[in-house]
Amino acid sequence: MGIPLLQAARIGAYVVGQHLRGRRRYPLVLMLEPLFRCNLACAGCGKIDYPAPILNQRLSYEDCMEAIDECGAPVVSIAGGEPLLHKEMPQIVQGYLARGKFVILCTNALLLSKKIDEYKPHPAFTWSIHLDGNQAMHDKSVCQRGVYDKAVEAIRLAKSRGFRVSINCTLFNDADPAQTAAFLDDMKALGLDGITVSPGYAYERAPDQQHFLNRTKTKELFRDILSRGRGGRNWPFSQSTMFLNFLAGNEAYHCTPWGNPTRTVFGWQKPCYLLGEGYAKTFRELMDDTEWDKYGVGNYEKCADCMVHSGFEATAVQETLKHPLKALGVAVRGVRTEGPMAEDIPLDKQRPAEYVFSGHVERKLAEIRRTKSEPKDTMAAE
Ligand code: SF4
Repeated sequence: MGIPLLQAARIGAYVVGQHLRGRRRYPLVLMLEPLFRCNLACAGCGKIDYPAPILNQRLSYEDCMEAIDECGAPVVSIAGGEPLLHKEMPQIVQGYLARGKFVILCTNALLLSKKIDEYKPHPAFTWSIHLDGNQAMHDKSVCQRGVYDKAVEAIRLAKSRGFRVSINCTLFNDADPAQTAAFLDDMKALGLDGITVSPGYAYERAPDQQHFLNRTKTKELFRDILSRGRGGRNWPFSQSTMFLNFLAGNEAYHCTPWGNPTRTVFGWQKPCYLLGEGYAKTFRELMDDTEWDKYGVGNYEKCADCMVHSGFEATAVQETLKHPLKALGVAVRGVRTEGPMAEDIPLDKQRPAEYVFSGHVERKLAEIRRTKSEPKDTMAAE
C-alpha cells in the first residue's frame, strides 16, 4: 500500500494518543476549501454552484493557519474549487509543512506546469491529481476534452521534479470495472506514490443526478474492480485496507464525520465535507454544537447512499487500530470479493432530508454586502 511508513506511524501514534486522553471525537484530516472557484465545471460536482460574490471569496493565509491550529489534525487535504487559483497557495502549503503537518494538495492539474516552480518537493507534501478513470471516463466526468492528457503530463512532470504524486479517483455508476482496473494498472506504471478511490457523493446540486451510485451498486462495483487486481494488492492505494474492505461490502461501518472536519469560506461546515447543513465559527463550536446523532447512514435521508472516503476513512483507521490482526489479514490476502456481504445499516428510521442550501447562500451574500469585503481582484492569477 502507498502510505509512507513515517506518515502511517505518526498518524497511528496520534490516534493512540487521542484514545489515551479519552477523546471520543477528534479530527484526522483537515479538509480545507480555501475557495470554491474552479477552472472546470464537472457534472458530478456539488461544490461550485455559487453566485460570483461567493466564488470570489478566499480564505487568507492567516485563516488557513488558524484552521489547523484550532483543530490540530495531523493531515491537511486542500481542495476546493481549484486550489491552484489561490494566490497564497504556496505559502499556505509551506505554513502547514512548517507546522509538521502532512499536506495533500488536490488539483485538476490544468495549472500545475505553470505553478510547479512555486513549490518544493518534501516528504510530507503530496500532489493529488484528480483523475476519474481513463481518457474517455475522465474527460466525460470533467465535461472537457483533453483534461486527462494534461493531468497525465502533469503527473510525469511532477514525478520528474522529485515530488510525491498520487491521484484521487471518484467513480460513478457508469464506471466499467475492466476499464477501471486497466486504468489503475496504467496509473501504477506511471510510478505514482498513491491512489485513492471513492464512490461519488450524490450532491443535491450536482448537474448530473443520474450517475450516482447507491450502496449495493457501490459494493458490487468495487468487488468487481478489486477482484481484477488481487483484492486490491496490485495497486498502490494510499487509503486504509479496511476502507477498501468496507467499499467491497465486507464491513458495515458508521461514518466518522468529525474525522475530516471541513473549513470553507462559510466557516466550519456541519456536519461533514459532503453536507453543508450549517456552519460554525470555530472548530470547538463545530465539535460541541453539532448534533452528530442526527447524521449518518440510517439517521438521515441524505446519508443513505454515502460510502465516501471523507466520511468513512477515519472509521476504517480506528477499526484498523482496534483489530490490527484482522486488518493485517486483509492486507496480506487482499480484499475479499466473493461470498456474503456484511448486513448493512437499516434505513427505515432515517429522518427526511432538509434543504437549507439557499439559506446559507443568502446569509453569506448579506455578510459580504455588509462587510464590503469582496476582493477587487476577483480571479486569482492564472
Ligand atoms: S454518511 Fe456521514 S459522511 Fe456521509 S454525508 Fe452523511 S454525515 Fe456526511
